[in-house]
Amino acid sequence: MPIFYQPMQRREFFKTCARNVTFALVSLLGLFLVYKKRDSNGVHVCINDGLCRGCRKYNGCILPRAVSDRQANYTNERVES
Ligand code: SF4
Repeated sequence: MPIFYQPMQRREFFKTCARNVTFALVSLLGLFLVYKKRDSNGVHVCINDGLCRGCRKYNGCILPRAVSDRQANYTNERVES
């Protein structure tokens, strides 16, 4: 029998499972908040040095550069068609 083996009651097992699931969810929330990068003022931060073409945040980005680029692309598409 291993040294650290301890028999576990059903209730203790479920408590351990709930604790581990809670820890995993809090960790995922932390990673999500880090992923949504903002500066100290709560303002969105450009993640790609202003190179909007090919940026993974382009479609949902609210920064002025991306917004004006999307508007320019929309206008160009309307003029060409
Ligand atoms: S879409 Fe443009 S402005 Fe927005 S994060 Fe990407 S590079 Fe920066």
